[in-house]
Amino acid sequence: MAVQVYFIGAGPGDPKLLTIRAKSIIEKADVIIYADSLVSPEVCRFAPKKAEIYKSASLTLEEITEIITSAVKEGKVIARLQSGDPSIYGAIGEQMAVLEEKGIKYEIIPGVSSLFAAAAALKTELTVPELSQTVIITRMEGKTPVPPLEDLKNLARHKASMAIFLSASLIKKVVAELLAGGYRPDTPAAVVYKASWQDELVLRTTLKSLVERVRAAGIKKQALILVGAFLEAKKTRSRLYNRSFEK
Ligand code: SAH
Repeated sequence: MAVQVYFIGAGPGDPKLLTIRAKSIIEKADVIIYADSLVSPEVCRFAPKKAEIYKSASLTLEEITEIITSAVKEGKVIARLQSGDPSIYGAIGEQMAVLEEKGIKYEIIPGVSSLFAAAAALKTELTVPELSQTVIITRMEGKTPVPPLEDLKNLARHKASMAIFLSASLIKKVVAELLAGGYRPDTPAAVVYKASWQDELVLRTTLKSLVERVRAAGIKKQALILVGAFLEAKKTRSRLYNRSFEK
């Protein structure tokens, strides 16, 4: 039987950042379930007029799974739109498990993560020779526990490029942990609010001023925190690319 369920990475917000494959599935979907907190309703305008559209922010996981499974029985095509790429904090694990249990086939369509939209907004490279060759994607512990070895203080010791999701409301704790882990207060830091949206906001600062800047801007969610020397890489670039630089 043909695949009827698609988990789609809908990108960071701007509908132009949908993949062509994502758009073509939305165009033929009978049911759209989209993460309305972070996916622009504009992506739904590609859907057929008769499509049923659900906003997932107010639905429980069970309700979402129920909508999907009953639509499958009716022979419908379902597009489950996640923000960014579904593999990063997408909570699709439980939904996939239920579908597998019921023998329902599904496919995952990758999307542009907000991490990459934020890097683009900052006009920065996450991996910079000599400065950082590693990107750490993480979050501050909130309601969802984080394994102890992965707490921010431990991760900070690597001084790699860091992208901290889901943590803008916990900014004070984030900064305290990073400093406790050994980052210097003058380490470059940035926050990108609603990357790729019309009202995108980019803050560039240092760890020591980060809390104040984020609070002054009133940012509590829909934002990515980036920390590391990579944010100031352009200043060191000329040295790296002179003739004597060897790999
Ligand atoms: N799968 C998504 C992340 C979902 S978790 C992705 O790949 O981007 C939700 C978190 O992602 C938010 O708390 C925020 O930290 C980040 N986020 C999602 N969209 C964003 C955007 N447009 N701008 C900045 N941060 C965003």
